[in-house]
Amino acid sequence: MDLLKHKEDTLTDVFGTREMRSPAPTEFIPKGKTAPEVAYQMVKEETYPQTQPRLNLATFVTTYMDDHATRLMNEAINVNYIDETEYPRVAVMCGRCLNILANLWNTPEKAQWKTGAPGIGSSEACMLGGVAAWLRWRNRRKAAGKPFDKPNLVMSSAYQVVWEKFCQLWQIELRTVPIDMQHPTLDIEAALRLCDENTICIVPIAGVTWSGLDDDIEGLDKALDAYNRRTGFEIPIHVDAASGGFILPFLHPERKWDFRLKWVLSISTSGHKFGLVYPGLGWVVWKDKKYLPDEMSFSVNYLGASITQVGLNFSRPAAQILGQYYNFIRLGFEGYREIQQNSMDITAYCHREIGKMSCFRNFAPEVVNPLFIWSLDPEYEKTAKWTLFDLQARLQQSGWMVPAYTMPANIEQTIVMRIVVRQGMSRDMADMLLQDIRNAVAEFEELQYPTPSRLKFERSEHQKGKVYTH
Ligand SMILES: *Cc1c(COP(=O)(O)O)cnc(C)c1O
Repeated sequence: MDLLKHKEDTLTDVFGTREMRSPAPTEFIPKGKTAPEVAYQMVKEETYPQTQPRLNLATFVTTYMDDHATRLMNEAINVNYIDETEYPRVAVMCGRCLNILANLWNTPEKAQWKTGAPGIGSSEACMLGGVAAWLRWRNRRKAAGKPFDKPNLVMSSAYQVVWEKFCQLWQIELRTVPIDMQHPTLDIEAALRLCDENTICIVPIAGVTWSGLDDDIEGLDKALDAYNRRTGFEIPIHVDAASGGFILPFLHPERKWDFRLKWVLSISTSGHKFGLVYPGLGWVVWKDKKYLPDEMSFSVNYLGASITQVGLNFSRPAAQILGQYYNFIRLGFEGYREIQQNSMDITAYCHREIGKMSCFRNFAPEVVNPLFIWSLDPEYEKTAKWTLFDLQARLQQSGWMVPAYTMPANIEQTIVMRIVVRQGMSRDMADMLLQDIRNAVAEFEELQYPTPSRLKFERSEHQKGKVYTH
């Protein structure tokens, strides 16, 4: 029998091979070779039990591109962006994308090529914006003969983790303004109270990851202008527009959040979020070349040519840049506007339907970006036998990934649930999701005993001294 099993040849079906009944390598490189179709199947197998990307409502990152975009990107999969000498047209396309973004964000820069850089995501773009602000501050302090060893950065506590990384890696003090129910976005006055001569920049967010709201950037700019005039400081703004950078220009072109504002000197965004490109692509743009410190441009003598490079990484895929440029041509302003508006309409629909369910309460009365969060209604929560973590697990059974999480400091006892609506989420999908939510809630309401997650929640409430009587 065993002999027969091992008599494989080139006609043996993939599922007739020895590998399909053997464990996959987990620690050591296999000694021998595996036929490509078998190796393919083994790797593919690993991905099956995961969420379907389109049903992953936790992510902001693109999970759908059309066939032409996908083809273009696949065809460029072997191109390294850094090889500018060999692939000069990719560098040109990158420059065109930066020009288009800078102009969408109303840059005053007159140069033929606007100042900016691509990144692997907003994370790299944020770091580059942060480093530039830090170096400008440092150079100004040095020139004035003042100490430059205690830089700090001010933003709301609803920051994305990249800012913690940036501050940790560059040893910059992160000063945060807590958000709470009274101040669900950056409290401008509180932010200014945290500023001093060592503040390298303030970072408002357009499309707060935690809540989907926008910080009031125009209000901040106005207040900061008065503050800078009074103190003689020159604290600038870097806008973290990971989501908003591709939402505001299309849906609210009249709203001032960008380079039209005096103190906004740099803006970062994620090309792979609402820029509608597959991961990983980010962008950072400066208001003018003079705001990008010389120390950040590296002239690399590479393969016989001198190229100027701004970035943390050296090699990076070119395919994403082709995808972004394709989207700009294919969709145009009008196409982007239609897709973002559809996402907003579907978000608003889900927000309305969730709001109608008496067990839930939306965090904000309106949706500002194609995402929103909600929690259990506080009255309902007092006697509920379940939590939103149970709902998350229940929805996962139908393939949906809808995350539940606790909010940042000060309101960390609040459990919320979030939906991000991206291109590819149709009204029909929204209806299926809402029905799955209603069915789950109906099941939970039949529960005789509290779920383990509810018991854990009660214990943590108890520890805080907030004992519920029921
Ligand atoms: C997603 C996000 C980031 C990080 O962006 P990546 O593109 O995932 O690197 C930074 N800031 C905000 C506000 C975000 O939403």
